[in-house]
Amino acid sequence: MPQEPLAPAAPPQALARDPRLWPEGLYIHLPFCAAICTYCDFASELYSSERPRRYFVGLEKELAAKTARLRAASGEPYAPRTIFLGGGTPSALGLAELGRFFDLLERHVGLRAVEEFTIEANPGSTEAAKLDLLRARGVNRISFGVQSFRPHLLKLLGRIHGADQGREAVALARAAGFENVSIDLMHGLPGQTPDDLARDLDEALALGTEHISAYGLIYEDGTPLKNAVAEGKIARLSPEDESAHYRLVMERLEAGGLPQYEISNYAKPGREARHNIIYWRNEAYLGVGVSAAGFVDFERATNHYEMDAYMSAAERGDDPAAGRETLSPEARARESLVLELRLRAGVDPEDFRARWGLDLSRDPAVRAALEKYRSVGLMEKTAGRWRITREGLPVADGILSELV
Ligand code: SF4
Repeated sequence: MPQEPLAPAAPPQALARDPRLWPEGLYIHLPFCAAICTYCDFASELYSSERPRRYFVGLEKELAAKTARLRAASGEPYAPRTIFLGGGTPSALGLAELGRFFDLLERHVGLRAVEEFTIEANPGSTEAAKLDLLRARGVNRISFGVQSFRPHLLKLLGRIHGADQGREAVALARAAGFENVSIDLMHGLPGQTPDDLARDLDEALALGTEHISAYGLIYEDGTPLKNAVAEGKIARLSPEDESAHYRLVMERLEAGGLPQYEISNYAKPGREARHNIIYWRNEAYLGVGVSAAGFVDFERATNHYEMDAYMSAAERGDDPAAGRETLSPEARARESLVLELRLRAGVDPEDFRARWGLDLSRDPAVRAALEKYRSVGLMEKTAGRWRITREGLPVADGILSELV
């Protein structure tokens, strides 16, 4: 099957200059976890020692094919600006497996231009030797899935680590030389009180990390947590309580010195996640591995979600995409607007029109939606930029769904 096309009509120099077309970001999915969390619907499976070796065979073939096309288009080895190793839990891999992974990565990807190289890690599988290896292989940012420091909430989520391990993981990362550390927290959890959340936020701030992501729990179909709610075993918070949690996160983290720069993300100035900003600006990125999505040359390709389907295709050297979609310019512009409005910096209409060809003041549907929410105080236009107000942020998903 064909690999993804790369704007054959565009000269290589134009491709290489345009972040809407050329993937400055590389995402690689490493799907192994030591246990499966109760809320998880990511492509992940229990780690077993024989699976990574097989997975890496297909992964390398996919990476080789995609980077070869980029090299053919630009005349140079592919050298992204950001790399993100997500999962799954990349840190669930053993030392030797991590070493093999970085070897295969470097056979196809140049690291000379990398500004930000992130790995997701679980505090329960963080150890000094792994962190040293990551630093030695160029990883300069680590994101720990802490989620909470409250033992009863970690248990509810099915996390393998304890509260102390969350704190220790950050200390180990500092000792290994990581100067850019992020932690994930969760809010809106069943049984989570405002006091639980406030203590989590304070403890997270006390760790002094450069970045915190705070996600509201999503009850994904088929997960044990959603099933438990459906069976009446646990009770979901009310929408009012979920919104109150969101506001508490905003207030506490901003007061603690981490300005909010995206709906769920807070960072010290200059430490915003560069890789994720590529997604929110709807710029191009390469995605490799099971379930990974890529967006190159305005085509979105999403790989098989099922491991066996992905591995069979990738091992054969076939295209592991389960689906491909090229949006019309108008749909692409609307999608870009929805993504960019997630950023607290908002959207400059002139800059947006220049990049995406959509005039926000002329498109009747977009203009009507923006004005409707402005009239009720959920959207604002300040300093010439459209953005969601603080009052609108807890219901941002509903606002943005109207703009698609
Ligand atoms: S660690 Fe992450 S990917 Fe793995 S099971 Fe838990 S939520 Fe899913």
